[in-house]
Amino acid sequence: MKYADLIIDISHERLDKTFEYIVPSELEDEIHEGMQVVIPFGAGNRAITGYVVGLHDKPKFDVTKLKPIARVVKDSIAIESQLISLAAFLKRNYGSTMNQALKTVIPIKKKENEKLKKEISLAVSTNQARIELNELLTNKRHAVGKERLLKELLEVDVLDWELATKKLQIPTSNIRDLEAKGIVKIDSVRTFRNPHLQADATRGRVTLNEEQEAAAEQIKADIDTGRHKTYLIHGVTGSGKTEVYMDVMEHVINMGKQVIVLIPEIALTYQTVMRFYTRFGDSVSILNSRMSPGERFDQFERAKSGEISIMVGPRSALFTPFTNLGLIIIDEEHEPSYKSEVVPRYHARETAVYRASLTGATVILGSATPSLEAYSRAISGEYQLITLNNRAMGQDMAQCEIVDLRAELQSGNRSMLSRRLKELMADRLSKKQQIMLFLNRRGLMGFVSCRACGHVLKCPHCDVALHLHAGGVMKCHYCGYTTKAAKTCPSCGSKYIGSFKAGTQRLEEIVKEAFPTARVLRMDADTTSGKNGHEEILSAFAAHEADVLIGTQMIVKGHDFANVTLVGIIAADISLNESDFHSGERTFQLLTQAVGRAGRGSEPGIAVIQTYQPENYAVVTSANQDYDSFFKQEFAYRRLLQYPPCSHILGIQVSSEKQADAIAQADILAAVIRQADSDIIIMGPEDAYIGKLKDVYRRVIYVKADEYDRLVRVKDEIDKFLLEQKQYRSTTTWFDFDPISTI
Ligand code: ADP
Ligand code: ZN
Ligand code: ZN
Repeated sequence: MKYADLIIDISHERLDKTFEYIVPSELEDEIHEGMQVVIPFGAGNRAITGYVVGLHDKPKFDVTKLKPIARVVKDSIAIESQLISLAAFLKRNYGSTMNQALKTVIPIKKKENEKLKKEISLAVSTNQARIELNELLTNKRHAVGKERLLKELLEVDVLDWELATKKLQIPTSNIRDLEAKGIVKIDSVRTFRNPHLQADATRGRVTLNEEQEAAAEQIKADIDTGRHKTYLIHGVTGSGKTEVYMDVMEHVINMGKQVIVLIPEIALTYQTVMRFYTRFGDSVSILNSRMSPGERFDQFERAKSGEISIMVGPRSALFTPFTNLGLIIIDEEHEPSYKSEVVPRYHARETAVYRASLTGATVILGSATPSLEAYSRAISGEYQLITLNNRAMGQDMAQCEIVDLRAELQSGNRSMLSRRLKELMADRLSKKQQIMLFLNRRGLMGFVSCRACGHVLKCPHCDVALHLHAGGVMKCHYCGYTTKAAKTCPSCGSKYIGSFKAGTQRLEEIVKEAFPTARVLRMDADTTSGKNGHEEILSAFAAHEADVLIGTQMIVKGHDFANVTLVGIIAADISLNESDFHSGERTFQLLTQAVGRAGRGSEPGIAVIQTYQPENYAVVTSANQDYDSFFKQEFAYRRLLQYPPCSHILGIQVSSEKQADAIAQADILAAVIRQADSDIIIMGPEDAYIGKLKDVYRRVIYVKADEYDRLVRVKDEIDKFLLEQKQYRSTTTWFDFDPISTI
């Protein structure tokens, strides 16, 4: 006998409420998760419909009190059924409870009285605000709240109301006082307003070139004949992939179907979004992570009611409840942000392919640097490969030069800028052309250490280095812990303690020294914290208000600046040295994307890659813009070491505030795995990459197998064990299938 858990009210806050029913034997083969069924309900046995969210062999309640399911709702392709099947897929393949999975796919309903988000900003000039602040400070009467508010507003342009009143504990009355005096203003905002634009089919429309046309025609022909496949468009940077997407999108929309477009959060900039708006007008809606749950719910409702037919957004847009979904596009398919970093840790690519299979939709993946996963599937025929070899307007790919930093050092140049790069910069500046300088973020942050003994100052709650911030404070970027900057080394007492400036900041200084008249913009976590930080910097650069743009990986993603003819990559090695097996792939992707920023307009471009490892395959192949040869070498390496996509890895993290519990529990789980699958490869348990975070200790176990399902079985065994285990209740366990970074 089988038993089913049903939910009756499919709204986010009622997902926990399940009812148990008996599955009659004649329905046993037919019923699965997601299905809509009719059941007798309540004292009067009223016939109502519910959704199956779980199936099991052992009843949880007294069987004599359980009623049987009456029948299955035939042809129920209700969107709710699809979403529940999708949740079941997430639960099975990525590890989570059904509830966590359901909450991932079903949006939180907007509360009736949800307040609009409020923001505080200065109503006077910063000078005036400084004067006011000084007055407050010299005044005898204490006004800590007001002081804090003004200080904060002198640092950031706008302050979230919730943040100000809750986290910074500024009394509401203080804010109102300053508002009454006209020093600050309070605005209600919607996080994202649709720019009210008339759809104008002629604006922004291009004539596809031959390659683009062939790609679009092939996909449209398949759609017309009812073949629904997954395509991988491998197109060099600037080949015009987006134009191909839009052509196919239009075709699908004209068939009365809907489209989901996933783009990485970082590329959700004005530039990209406007391209979809100008083409499709008000039928487009945008999701972004700054939206409140209520706003997301609204967008999803609009999708369900047919008010819109295109949803553009980050990975969670995948769950848009379109009733007649025809196409899912994943742009920059290789981006790590397509993997969820919370449980269930799903990958948007696989989940999209699954969702498409439920409704007979088409999937298009696009990238200039496809992930090893996608490309190997394209080669094996599981996906259909489409290649765009040329830039949209036939521009040449940038030439690329590699500068060996070891030789540079030997000849006495210790600067971050090699002689060759400096020479090219001078040339471009004299021609009034623009330059982008790219510095990988990792490894070069402003952490604080002792120059005498090498001691690194760490957060007392997390196993990570503290970073120096303006105002003489050190902060933990993981938990927010803040303390006064140390004057002496806590380990040896030396006063030679200091911070290494964040790489981008240092680079900015060096460029300004070398080229005093050059106008320089810097884009990194520090300069983009304001609301529209990214956009302001990018539009200023696009408008040629600056000659040089310095930045981290943020600047290499998808931006199109026609006047950039030189790209400098300051240190290509930093991402190579990471301990993760993805480091070769990440390096190749970053370098190729960075090189691809140069020469997009009429003038040819040059890229300079500075590196200590000029012979490294990721450096050499990206300099040649040679994906095929990168793929061959990287794939051989993965196969040799049995890393994904050549095999699969399951990461299991066990955490607890009690270190001893975390250690003991991880050991127990390792034994459970060995018991379940005696010859599977187990690595660890060992400390997680960050062994302690917010006072919680973390241990990890990695399990490796050729078949994904073998890992799913391991996960199921652990789940079963945990359900019955009484000990070590302080621990939490979660799973990460094919992790994309070290956990
Ligand atoms: P990708 O996403 O492949 O890097 P985009 O789709 O962003 O490339 O296209 C790069 C630039 O070329 C954009 O400014 C786009 O408007 C332009 N473009 C693309 N295809 C064409 C075309 N067929 N004719 C004219 N311009 C085009
Ligand atoms: Zn020291
Ligand atoms: Zn911390």
